[in-house]
Amino acid sequence: MNKIDIKSMYLDELQELMVSLKEPKFRAGQIFKWLQSGVSDFDEMTDIPSKLRVTLQEGYYIVTAKVKKRLESSIDDTVKYLYEMYDGELVESVVMKYNHGYSICISTQVGCRMGCSFCASGLQGLKRSLSASEMLAQITTAERDLNIRISNVVLMGMGEPMDNLQNVIRFLRLVSHEKGLNIGLRHISVSTSGVVTGIYRLAEENFPITLSVSLHAPNDKIRDSMMPVNKKWNVATLIKACKDYVKVTGRRISFEYAVVSGVNDSDENAKELAKLLKGMLCHVNIIPVNPVKENSYIKPDRRKIEHFCKLLNDLGINTTIRRTLGQDIAASCGQLRGKALEE
Ligand code: SAH
Ligand code: SF4
Repeated sequence: MNKIDIKSMYLDELQELMVSLKEPKFRAGQIFKWLQSGVSDFDEMTDIPSKLRVTLQEGYYIVTAKVKKRLESSIDDTVKYLYEMYDGELVESVVMKYNHGYSICISTQVGCRMGCSFCASGLQGLKRSLSASEMLAQITTAERDLNIRISNVVLMGMGEPMDNLQNVIRFLRLVSHEKGLNIGLRHISVSTSGVVTGIYRLAEENFPITLSVSLHAPNDKIRDSMMPVNKKWNVATLIKACKDYVKVTGRRISFEYAVVSGVNDSDENAKELAKLLKGMLCHVNIIPVNPVKENSYIKPDRRKIEHFCKLLNDLGINTTIRRTLGQDIAASCGQLRGKALEE
């Protein structure tokens, strides 16, 4: 018999389950709380009668993320995890400390099928998508391991969230539930490479999350060379979707722009980008590209990056340079899994 992933279940689904098992409905709330707090075994649910625990054990399983590797930065408080999932697949998360608390960057898939030329996550293609519970487990395991509470979540690890949107939406509802981890949607960012259908689907939900769009280029010629997704939804289509998203949700979009020396970092590129984004409720995040050994991209020098940033601000586009954390342990997501696979 195939067991069911109980940690991905909503509270009302657990309530229905209790009714069908002829158990009092309040048990659902107790079980939900245990699951969302990160227990890995039904026997840890001490206020649940043992008979019910056995019944659950027989038909359901609790998803966990086992710490396979933990790397701590010696220059800041960044911690990078390599987790092993139930089937042996490897997934990465990064915990970062900010003034206001802890933030975690989690993965939504094992690998990625989008094939961006600068990214380590896509190198081996997509293995599989993660369930909502596997996204939650990345958070609960880190919280338990470090004995901290995490207040911010970004879906910017391995994978394309819009290629696994059903599970991502389930995750967003679970993680923000007041009886669960209770992390407010305002403290969550979802990043996409520009899957336009997903942007419209997410707009329908009208979550108060931050949508990040990995733009990386001001025109189709450059974007085509970096991101195959641009062949399906080009820059104009993507920007139109972003404008529509802002119209529906009233929320500012965050554009990611990885600057690559000689590719997308000229004054002309900045001007073209400014023209593209003019008038939109948005913010641009400049990220110095992280060189991956499979490509020949080089990050521009600091002065050049600052100049690019200043130019955009002067042209009326709100722009900042992303702080790079954990430089010594990680570089970009996907690299740790890549290394482990090689070994
Ligand atoms: N698939 C989603 C989310 C995960 S990638 C997306 O592409 O948006 C998270 C972010 O890291 C994206 O903005 C992505 O473009 C960026 N990124 C990936 N590899 C990078 C690298 N080598 N250097 C800098 N940024 C990188
Ligand atoms: Fe996938 Fe994002 Fe990496 Fe592109 S940048 S390959 S979409 S994870």
